[in-house]
Amino acid sequence: MRWPMITACLSACLFAAWGAGFSLSIVPDIEARRKQFVTKTLATDLSSLAPAERRTLEHLVAASRLIHEVFRLQAWRGNPELATRLAAADGPGIAAAREYYRIMAKPWDELRHEEPFVQGLVRPPGAGFYPEDLTKAEFESWIAEHPADRAAFESPTTVVVRRDGKLAAVGYGAHYRDLLTRAGEELRRAAAATGNASLRTFLEKRAAAFLSDDYFDSDMAWMDLDGAIEVVIGPYETYEDGLFGYKAAFESFVCVAQPADSKRLAKYKGELPFFEKNLPIPDEHKNLGRGSASPIRVADVVFSAGDARSGVQTLAFNLPNDERVREAKGSKKVLLKNMMQAKYEAILAPIAQRVLAPGDVGRLDFDSYFHFILFHELSHGLGPGRLTLSGRSTEVRLELKELYSAIEEAKADVLGVYNLYAAHDRKVVGSAIVDPLPYTYVAGLFRTARFGVAEAHGLGVVLQTNVLLEKGAIAITPDGHFRPVVEKFRGAIRDLAHELLMIEARGDYAGAKAFVARYGTPPAARRERIAGLPDIPVDVDPHYALYEKR
Ligand code: ZN
Repeated sequence: MRWPMITACLSACLFAAWGAGFSLSIVPDIEARRKQFVTKTLATDLSSLAPAERRTLEHLVAASRLIHEVFRLQAWRGNPELATRLAAADGPGIAAAREYYRIMAKPWDELRHEEPFVQGLVRPPGAGFYPEDLTKAEFESWIAEHPADRAAFESPTTVVVRRDGKLAAVGYGAHYRDLLTRAGEELRRAAAATGNASLRTFLEKRAAAFLSDDYFDSDMAWMDLDGAIEVVIGPYETYEDGLFGYKAAFESFVCVAQPADSKRLAKYKGELPFFEKNLPIPDEHKNLGRGSASPIRVADVVFSAGDARSGVQTLAFNLPNDERVREAKGSKKVLLKNMMQAKYEAILAPIAQRVLAPGDVGRLDFDSYFHFILFHELSHGLGPGRLTLSGRSTEVRLELKELYSAIEEAKADVLGVYNLYAAHDRKVVGSAIVDPLPYTYVAGLFRTARFGVAEAHGLGVVLQTNVLLEKGAIAITPDGHFRPVVEKFRGAIRDLAHELLMIEARGDYAGAKAFVARYGTPPAARRERIAGLPDIPVDVDPHYALYEKR
């Protein structure tokens, strides 16, 4: 799973012929679309890595480049031919179209519901995973007539093809054999180079999975990685499959943890039992017996490819998705720190310029922002989870139904701030982190504004904004800027944390509904501020200086 996600809603199914004589006609606003992505160089310090580990990284990057080619075929079978045509074409907008195509890795615009930006093309709803003319009805009637085919047809690691007038499922390992064989060879070279046993085990198992399509063993081994190199490489998310959402797209994140970050993170994790005891709710609602949460790691991304590289960039991922692995070992969340810094500089800092009072803009701070995100993630693991309501055993998630995500995201934000102050009291984090926190937090309330209130994070920040305005912890200046009222801020955060936690502790769906009805409408002043933000980039176009020439 990704965070934050943008839901991909796909238009009705239409099919385009990719015939001879097709000329390239680009949407007229392509230059403006290209400008939505600001190119940022992502760097990291590899000086703490032994030479063997740097060689390991080079093989992982080589494997990732091959994975990118697999993804391009999955996203659209016409990609290789379009790439050739785009490279040869010229005319108005072609240079920007080439760049936009490189960013998306397909001719579909992820920011506009996957609409084509090369006119005349139509995205097949099943991307490259099914025959382009396959309908849901045909797929379903095939399964009804051939029930033994169901598992293979619905498998996340097969493509469905037409063969002699019949449908057939072909495993990824066979369908993309050449590319996956070469990618597997690079993983084995990386395995031979590394001095870390857990990484070696994972890479050898993953190389085998590329051809066998059985990812279970290697997903289990991935949970055990314990070195500085953190790599995700394989088929994971199913958002590209707009027909059924069954098929997993290949992606790669090659990451390196910095020793200083790992040390700080270990210190914060050590505080989790204290944070649970310190929650602003009665003891009976605290989750003091909660087992060790799923692991969280912080790393810098040094290369990404495939689904991970295409379109909007991920700040953090939570994998694997295989429920059998999640049951046995949980899942692991990895926060991509240098990606956060790139987005902070490209997006949050310019938003703060418009949103905060002019005198407050200079108080924004990346390390404070990074800690806010990190403590948000840690705070998801605190507070009520399983509940017993009048003798019935249940979960917060089940009781709060469709409102759960927004309430839980708001809880994690508010509790993140609450816990940062508590950590400061205990001298676990310094004043340099908490002094800028109110300003960083208020600017951050506008960060997710573009997602709208239909999305959990978007609704979660509107709830917080309205409550803090009502409590006087945020003031709107006469000229429409948002200013934290520092002396009221911490108390208001505590009260709001109490309110959200009690909705969860009681499994109080009616209370959640009333809370959203009261606080879920964006205030007018916020709408006006957001209306002034369209020229701020939507996302970053990463440039990995260590491994890419440009
Ligand atoms: Zn969250």
